[in-house]
Amino acid sequence: MDFDLPDDDDPRRQHARGWLADHPSPSGRELAEAGFVAPHWPRPWGLGADPVHQLVIDDELRRAGVSRPVNPIGIGWAGPTLLHAGTDEQKHRYLMPLLAGEEMWCQLFSEPGAGSDLAALGTRAVRDGDEWVVTGQKIWTSLAQFARFGILIARTDPDAGKHTGISYFVCPMDAPGITIRPIIEMTGAHTFNEVFLDGVRLPAANLVGDVGKGWGLAKVTLANERVSLSSGGALWGQGPTAGDLLDAVRDAGGTADAGLRDRLVRLHIEGEVLRLIRLRTVSAAVQGREPGPEASIRKVLADEHGQHVFGLAKDLAGAGGMLSDVGPLGGPAGVWHHGFLFAPALTVGGGTGEVQRNIIGERVLGLPHEPDAEAGRTWAETRRA
Ligand SMILES: Cc1cc2nc3c(=O)[nH]c(=O)nc-3n(C[C@H](O)[C@H](O)[C@H](O)COP(=O)(O)OP(=O)(O)OC[C@H]3O[C@@H](n4cnc5c(N)ncnc54)[C@H](O)[C@@H]3O)c2cc1C
Repeated sequence: MDFDLPDDDDPRRQHARGWLADHPSPSGRELAEAGFVAPHWPRPWGLGADPVHQLVIDDELRRAGVSRPVNPIGIGWAGPTLLHAGTDEQKHRYLMPLLAGEEMWCQLFSEPGAGSDLAALGTRAVRDGDEWVVTGQKIWTSLAQFARFGILIARTDPDAGKHTGISYFVCPMDAPGITIRPIIEMTGAHTFNEVFLDGVRLPAANLVGDVGKGWGLAKVTLANERVSLSSGGALWGQGPTAGDLLDAVRDAGGTADAGLRDRLVRLHIEGEVLRLIRLRTVSAAVQGREPGPEASIRKVLADEHGQHVFGLAKDLAGAGGMLSDVGPLGGPAGVWHHGFLFAPALTVGGGTGEVQRNIIGERVLGLPHEPDAEAGRTWAETRRA
């Protein structure tokens, strides 16, 4: 890592530390109004903070034991897209409650027939006077059951090209015509849903950006990533790391099994490679360089690494691992069992491993595009042709 965080006398650090001393248990609203929830956003929602300033604020929040409001889709994706293309009215209406965690958001993008090939979406939005009438079905909509609003992409011009007839909307999740049906994961949790839109009427003011420009905005949404020195948990940055599994193995007295020991060493090496890639990404941001191909490469490696961590944790539990409450080497199950059941989702959500490899192949290695992607033919049709 070729940068150091500023010392105690740095004015940005002193400002954050002083504010936190005055607000020892800040509410989400207070943190949002201080600009500490998304410091890299422009004022009045953030502090226009550069990467070093962001990391200083993270450091001070951690030191004070203060957590930011939880609203991953709102803060991570909807907010940056509204900042990029929203009207002043939209920014003033939505951004502060979103940052404060007072209004949760969800993402109405994927459909039963449009996941990796998102631009194949079939949900229609038809203009009717001052309103848009939306009909279609979305799926895998995380947090829809808690959300006040969703970011929605729908086809507004079926005669236009695949990528040019799509528009981007804010959809109130309590609008008449919306039905939310839960999907229960194999972890037993209810995180995502099917969402049916049956003649949902959205005011024209809920269009974000221009009609037909929704595909470009969807790409803005999907590209957003904050600079973060997070601990690099194996479940999309959350949860335990390979190091935590090694600690659990040590605490349980270690293992003499040569095969398991070999896998533990490999896991440690993977974890270190990922830690160095993450530091390189942060380092590039701190120096003002554009993110490189590291993001796709890191996602491919990190998602599979997460599966290796939890797969090995399960194997270390031996036959006891068939039970939900037995962890590595007979120790506590803790998060290991849940993580094992969740881990298959890592290589699917947010762009599958295969799709990330396509991106790396085309943009990093300079390989030719997928056959006939532009012609709109499927792989099977291409093979038949
Ligand atoms: C935990 C989780 C949370 C999610 N939350 C949301 C959410 O809140 N909102 C939302 O809109 N979506 C959400 N999703 C959906 C997610 O974005 C999609 O699952 C993902 O885009 C893949 O689409 P799909 O499931 O339709 O699979 P498909 O696209 O049908 O893919 C099926 C298989 O074919 C492969 N494949 C597809 N195209 C290609 C290709 N061109 N080359 C090689 N292989 C290919 C894939 O890699 C995969 O193995 C979530 C998913 C998960 C797992």
